Amino acid sequence: MRVYSRSEHNISRSQISENALKVLYKLQKEGYSAYLVGGCVRDLLLGREPKDFDVVTNADPEEIKKVFRNCRLIGRRFRLAHVHFGREVIEVATFRGAAESSNDDKQVLNTEGRLLRDNVYGTIEEDVWRRDFTVNALYYNIKDFSVVDYVNGMADHKAAQLKLIGDPETRFREDPVRMIRAVRFAVKLGFTIDANCAEAMHKVADLLSSIPSARLYDEVIKLFLSGYGLQTFEMLRHYGLFKELFPVTDQSLAVEEAGFPRQLIIKALQNSDNRIADGKTVTAYFLFSAFLWEPVQIRAREKVARGVPEYMAYQDAANEVISQQVKSTALPRHITMAMREVWGLQGKFNSRYGSKPSRLMSHPRFRAGYDFLVLRAETGGADMELAEWWGKYQEASENEQRKMTQPPRKAEGGKSTRKRGYRPRVKKTSQGTEA
Ligand code: ATP
Ligand code: MG
Repeated sequence: MRVYSRSEHNISRSQISENALKVLYKLQKEGYSAYLVGGCVRDLLLGREPKDFDVVTNADPEEIKKVFRNCRLIGRRFRLAHVHFGREVIEVATFRGAAESSNDDKQVLNTEGRLLRDNVYGTIEEDVWRRDFTVNALYYNIKDFSVVDYVNGMADHKAAQLKLIGDPETRFREDPVRMIRAVRFAVKLGFTIDANCAEAMHKVADLLSSIPSARLYDEVIKLFLSGYGLQTFEMLRHYGLFKELFPVTDQSLAVEEAGFPRQLIIKALQNSDNRIADGKTVTAYFLFSAFLWEPVQIRAREKVARGVPEYMAYQDAANEVISQQVKSTALPRHITMAMREVWGLQGKFNSRYGSKPSRLMSHPRFRAGYDFLVLRAETGGADMELAEWWGKYQEASENEQRKMTQPPRKAEGGKSTRKRGYRPRVKKTSQGTEA
């Protein structure tokens, strides 16, 4: 173990959230030890503002609850305390320990070596071995403002290296989610994944499929909405992890590696990275709409070729793709609903005449649908002229809009040039128009 005294590191209390400091001091005052740990220490050492502050202590959850009035106990996999200060929540965990005996039911491994339950309390010396990367296992001690390092994390931090604590393959088997965490941190921090870890990742990437799809959703959101989505995507593909998270998408990429689906996804990720950089909001459903668009197209085209009516073919294809996807990474219903709406709007953009465009514009997902149309057009999957028309239409005055939506004069033969979309055929009236 090495202790870096206050003068040997750059973490100052002024960078630490006031509420986190309150929690640390209060625990100390009650006679407990209290440390900041994990991502916040790592980020503070880099001079970055941490996303949140995690505290560890030797007080157990019940004791923590007694210290703080504004405290709630949460967690199934591991019990934690959440101390609430308005909108800020400080997470307070008890040191985790090693299970004493193999028949201890507080810690359970499955046949692949995955840790299913892990609810044993311990000391800081035990807690450290449970953490994933050495740079995530540095403890900032409120008692003397020192940084406590059991795993050579400070040196790895200086070398900008992500190294797992212990044997990489064993640690990835225990919790395969650590592989996508490695990618997330590598991209976010600009650190390199240590060679032994990288080797182990290539070897056991497929174990990610054993993780419950609901747990992966949270991780996937962090991966792609972090502001470095594109780089993350490339690195996940490099390690064979992307196919475990989005198998249906991965298949479609294999079909046309240099072509359209890849460009669509890349462009979507680039756009959302740019938006985040500009401080704008991004939505998960838009990205997932892009991830799964081509798979839906492929299936729908197959169905149409088999004689399924177009409208039904697209509906069925969307259902199939979504139900396959959620087996790997669960997507909540409100997300899949929004994706269906974005997809459904794409066909509707073809109707430019009459009252349809103005009705379409009042659709709650119009903007996302239009952005998606532009994305498709930019990557060769939709008519650029159509996308531009909709861009112009939105900006136009009411008068101009009326002009834009006037159907072209009928040709000599009296045939309308209007496209019918995929509405079921309706009996024609004597005037030759639809009933
Ligand atoms: P950030 O919050 O910036 O995304 P973080 O490192 O704080 O990064 P959290 O998910 O908040 O990530 O986890 C806090 C700490 O808990 C980590 O730094 C690590 O020490 C430990 N940890 C989290 N997940 C795991 C895991 N799957 N295996 C081992 N340790 C973990
Ligand atoms: Mg954190």
